[in-house]
Amino acid sequence: SVRLAIAQGFNRWIKVVIQGMEEDGHRAFLVVLADVDEQVRLGETVRSQRDRGAVALEAAGRGLFELDLVSRELEVTGDLLGGEGEKPITLDGLLSAMHPEDREPFEAAQAAHIRDTSKPMSAEFRFGNDRKEWLWRMVTGQVVGLDMDGYPARMSGIITDISTRKQAEQKLKQSEQRLKSILADSPVGVAVVDQKGDIQFCNQRFSQMRNLPPDMLKGVNIGSFYTKHDKFCKHLAAFTRDQRLDQAKVAWGMQARSRRWVLMTWTPFAFKGRDSILCWAYDITELVRAERKLKELATTDHLCRIFNRRFFMLLAKRELNRAKRYNLPLSLVMFDADKFKAINDTHGHDVGDKVLVSIAATGKNALRDVDVLARIGGEEFAALLPETGGESAMVVAERLREAVDEQSIKVKDLAIGVTISLGVASLDQDVESVEQLLMRADKALYAAKTGGRNQTVYAHEMELTPQEEGGIG
Ligand code: GH3
Ligand code: MG
Ligand code: MG
Repeated sequence: SVRLAIAQGFNRWIKVVIQGMEEDGHRAFLVVLADVDEQVRLGETVRSQRDRGAVALEAAGRGLFELDLVSRELEVTGDLLGGEGEKPITLDGLLSAMHPEDREPFEAAQAAHIRDTSKPMSAEFRFGNDRKEWLWRMVTGQVVGLDMDGYPARMSGIITDISTRKQAEQKLKQSEQRLKSILADSPVGVAVVDQKGDIQFCNQRFSQMRNLPPDMLKGVNIGSFYTKHDKFCKHLAAFTRDQRLDQAKVAWGMQARSRRWVLMTWTPFAFKGRDSILCWAYDITELVRAERKLKELATTDHLCRIFNRRFFMLLAKRELNRAKRYNLPLSLVMFDADKFKAINDTHGHDVGDKVLVSIAATGKNALRDVDVLARIGGEEFAALLPETGGESAMVVAERLREAVDEQSIKVKDLAIGVTISLGVASLDQDVESVEQLLMRADKALYAAKTGGRNQTVYAHEMELTPQEEGGIG
């Protein structure tokens, strides 16, 4: 083809075919001129557009390929499948440079596309370069030409460098596996729940804490573990607001109406592409039980299940300070079982114990919830009556004395009667401490004993001198 000038500034592509011939012994030339201008210009545009496209693609880590399905020749732009300007590769050359594991899937993907060309071919593979490195590539292609019989003859498409993505995937996979193995051995229960609280995943420990295998816990709402559902709603609301729930102490209902105490911490977590909650659950049941036991041991009288002397003194001090600050009345009733030694001697110590328990129970019954009842000695009790003056305290004490007097305590086949003597003292300006108040009540109690027992004496009806107060204890 030659470009012929046809006018000033204009030229056209003309195909010139010259053929030598002999005609009647004369040498001659047959010249055929064909106007191919349009085809040539079209071809140039296509080429330049393809080259431009290839440059742009190369900058984005991609290359174009053309594959002749008959000759299996492969034409690739850029250097995605080896160095530029190297000898042309074939499909078989590519397959032999491919990682053995990737060869079969690649050929299967190609065969599938040729069977049904409506879906493009897509395959990922590793390609070994000269330096014996495996490079990840992705091919997406499409049959673009058919042969005369209508069979696919050419494929073209894009080759993409996916090394970075594959490395990231590999790293993610490794870190996911690491996380999984950490969670599997974790002494803390861990569950991933969705925004509503439905379990998506949980570790071994978590499933042990619920007594159910992990797959049976999938989809279960953690709110159903709470003994109080409104608490769960509050936790969800708090998490939505703060994006965190920190060390919340929760009672979990278990089988057979038992419960366990669990410390829960929630943090935001992306799980399978969804905004989820990573829920750490730490069983503190034993700790809570031990704490309660300690507290009970420190405050309670083991036999009578009322406060002990130590805790009574603590509460009494608090009440006395409050009463003094707000100028409120406060009274103390002290009582002691009459002739208790005789009960022990007659019926035995065990029966004596039961009588003491019974006196404590009667005491509790006769008093208000705000009153503080304690066993402060062997068969000696004290009741602190907040916001109660002497007169009212005397009424309470008398009611209590009568209640004990009237009750008959049944132990085995016996019905045992017991009485108590009581001393009542009230707060006034002279009283500075609980010990002083106790001393006054004790003195009144002593008076009740000497006065014949089974009676109540009010401390203020006796004459107390400061010396006497200090001298008794
Ligand atoms: P009074 O009317 O003067 O109080 O006579 P009492 O016999 O009750 O007084 P005393 O102080 O002589 O005796 C108290 C007895 O209470 C002595 C002791 O063995 C008995 N006691 C103290 N603590 C307990 C206890 O925990 N259980 C039993 N069963 N008896 C106890
Ligand atoms: Mg006694
Ligand atoms: Mg006594």
